[in-house]
Amino acid sequence: MNNWARELSKGIVSGDQLKQKGWLSQDVSEEQLEALKKNFDIRVPVAMHNPVKDNDEAVVNQFIPTLRELSFRPEELEDPIGDERFSPVEGVTHRYPDRVLLKPTYQCSAYCRFCFRRYKVSDSDYRLQGETLRNALRYIQEKTQVWEVILTGGDPLVLTQKRLAEIVLPLATIEHVKILRIHTRVPSLLPSRVNGELVDLFQQSQKTVFVVAHINTASELNSDCIQAVKRLQNGGFTVLAQSVLLKGVNDNSAALEKLFRGLVEIGVKPYYLHYPDLARGTSHFRVPLAKAISLVEGLRGKVSGLCIPQLIVDIPGGSGKVVVEPSWAKSIDGRTWEFKSPLTGEWVRVQYPEN
Ligand SMILES: *Cc1c(COP(=O)(O)O)cnc(C)c1O
Ligand code: SF4
Repeated sequence: MNNWARELSKGIVSGDQLKQKGWLSQDVSEEQLEALKKNFDIRVPVAMHNPVKDNDEAVVNQFIPTLRELSFRPEELEDPIGDERFSPVEGVTHRYPDRVLLKPTYQCSAYCRFCFRRYKVSDSDYRLQGETLRNALRYIQEKTQVWEVILTGGDPLVLTQKRLAEIVLPLATIEHVKILRIHTRVPSLLPSRVNGELVDLFQQSQKTVFVVAHINTASELNSDCIQAVKRLQNGGFTVLAQSVLLKGVNDNSAALEKLFRGLVEIGVKPYYLHYPDLARGTSHFRVPLAKAISLVEGLRGKVSGLCIPQLIVDIPGGSGKVVVEPSWAKSIDGRTWEFKSPLTGEWVRVQYPEN
C-alpha cells in the first residue's frame, strides 16, 4: 500500500469507532446510528483527528454525524441542483454549453455531513470504467463546444493512479478541451495524495490545469495541506478554493476572514462561497440567505479584494448558479446612480455625463 492509501484507510468509518474515541454522543442508539449510516456514510479523515480530539467545533460539525441529519424538510430535494436532469450519458453532467462535469467516482477522502450530492456520494459500487467511461469520453470528444472538463464526484483524487490515468490521459487527445479543472477536498483532508505522480499525470493531460480545493475553515490549513498546495503550484497549476458557508462552522466574519486571508497567504484565490444547497437533512447547516449576504458585504472594504469570493446560490432544480451580491448600486435615472460606500455604509450619488 502506498502512503496515501494507508492514510485513507486510517480514516474512521464506523459509529463504533466514533464511540470508542468518545467522539459520538453516547445517547445515539444503535438503531439511530444505523439510520444515520444508511442515510449517509461516515468517514473522518486522519488529517482531522487532532482537531476533532481538541473539540474544534468547526471541524467536529463538518465530519461527526448528528441526529439532526435525520430531520428532512419538505423543501429539501434528493438531487437539489438537478444533476440527473442534465446528464446526457452516465458520469457526465452538461448544464452549461462550454463545460461538463465528469464524475468518475462517488467516494471521497471524508464524508462531509452537509454534502449536497449525498444521495449519490459514498456509493462504493459506482465506477465509471470500461464501456461507460468510453461513452463519457466519446460524448466529450463529439461535443466540440466543450472547452473545459471538470473532474468532480465524489472526489476524483481518491481514485487509484491507474484509474485516474485512464480518465486524464485520453483528454490529452481531445483538442477542443483546453482546460482541466479538478474539484477536490484532498489537499486539506488527504494531503499525501498530492504526490509527484499526481502532478506528473496532470502535466501529461496537456491542458491548462486548475485545482479547486474545497476548504471551509482555517483549521484545515495545516502544514500538510500547505505543502500539498505548494506541490500543485510548483507543478504549474492554478489553485483556487471553494468553501461552503455553514452554520456552526464558518458563519461569522472572523472565521471567514481568517480562512480567506489564510488561503490568499498561500497563493490560493477564494473563488466561490456556496450557500448550502437544499440537500435532505442539511437544514441545521443553513443560515438565512440575508445573513450570508451581509457576511460577504461586511468583508468588502475591510479585507483585500483578493480575499473575497463570490457568494453563489445554485438555483434548486437545476436552473444554474448565480452570484448573489449585496446591493452596492442603485439607478436613480439613466445617468444618475447611487453607490453604497463599503467604508462608511453611506449612499453616494454620482452623475455620469451623457454619452
Ligand atoms: C457548478 C457547475 C459547473 C461549474 O460552474 P462555474 O461557474 O464555471 O464554476 C459546471 N457545470 C455544472 C453542471 C455545475 O453544477
Ligand atoms: S468531499 Fe465533496 S462530494 Fe465528498 S462528501 Fe464532502 S462535499 Fe460531498
